[in-house]
Amino acid sequence: MKTLCLQAEDPKTPEIAAKLLLEGRLVAIPTETVYGLGANALDESATAKIFEAKGRPQDNPLIIHIADPEDLDRWCRDIPEAARKLAARFWPGPLTMVLPVRDCVPKRTTAGLNTVAIRCPETPVTRAIIRMAGVPVAAPSANLSGTPSTTTAQHVLHDYGTDGKIAAIVDGGECRVGLESTIVDLHEDVPRLLRPGGITPEQLREVLGELQVDKAVIGQIAGDAVVRAPGMKYIHYAPKGDVIILRGTAEAAAAYALARKSSSVAVLCYEEEAPLYGGMNVVTYGHENDPESLAHGLFAALRELDDAGYATIYARCPEEGGVGYAVQNRLKKAAGFRILEV
Ligand code: AMP
Ligand code: MG
Repeated sequence: MKTLCLQAEDPKTPEIAAKLLLEGRLVAIPTETVYGLGANALDESATAKIFEAKGRPQDNPLIIHIADPEDLDRWCRDIPEAARKLAARFWPGPLTMVLPVRDCVPKRTTAGLNTVAIRCPETPVTRAIIRMAGVPVAAPSANLSGTPSTTTAQHVLHDYGTDGKIAAIVDGGECRVGLESTIVDLHEDVPRLLRPGGITPEQLREVLGELQVDKAVIGQIAGDAVVRAPGMKYIHYAPKGDVIILRGTAEAAAAYALARKSSSVAVLCYEEEAPLYGGMNVVTYGHENDPESLAHGLFAALRELDDAGYATIYARCPEEGGVGYAVQNRLKKAAGFRILEV
């Protein structure tokens, strides 16, 4: 069967997508973070299809998506005051919370953990689909496992084709944020940042006061390390070519890359730096002083570099501050933490 391409604006879309989800089928959905590969979170055979389609390791738990913040209590228990405050401030929006899970959520969704990652996304069509389905929707980023996330419907079709590997895709245009959600673990005494995203550490600290940052955010996790969630040890966001971050002035970075100019080498940089790399393969991803634009453009740029098949990619990476922190985190992961001072 062919993959159905549904439009976000079509009033019939929520009903069609909800019906497919309740039949146990996979539906790719737009969110403000990235496109998700959705399935009924309460149906183990449906969520099994997510792991199969993505090639996702079975021990990497899924985020469940709810239509309305009030639904939090249906799937989580022992909800601390801090979680209520975060939900009131940032939902609907790009924030995922890890909380103790109720027994009604199947083990396959949580990879057997006693917690679940939960989020109320912002995109109206997706909330309408979830509301109509009447079940939470488990949805990891819709990319094939290990490749850059999907921020357009075209990215999803690039990965899965249209011959029915997924039942339908809902095209909602480009994702507003462009990076996966911020994840905060709230099931222990001190809130802990597991993944930075569109909601920044500064914004979280305004509400929470104290926030620890997990070591998975800061550095590379060894394959056999003990981590909060099994999924955290997997390499994410890795393009096929070798990504190397060049840290230093714009001129020094350009001099370094230009000395290594070749048809198999490319540069990933800010728009204002592109003219410095005359004659080289250049892909830009936003403006240096506008981290939101970098977040919005990063995955599309990594995919473009992948499709062109460059062997080496020299990347310019923003400083911390606001969403720049999350951009830096994704780019460092894509680079396997290889950073050159130039
Ligand atoms: P993805 O949806 O592909 O962006 O990945 C979901 C992320 O959420 C992974 O990094 C998981 O490790 C993380 N995650 C999901 N459930 C939990 C949980 N119960 N505890 C901690 N992290 C989780
Ligand atoms: Mg992912």
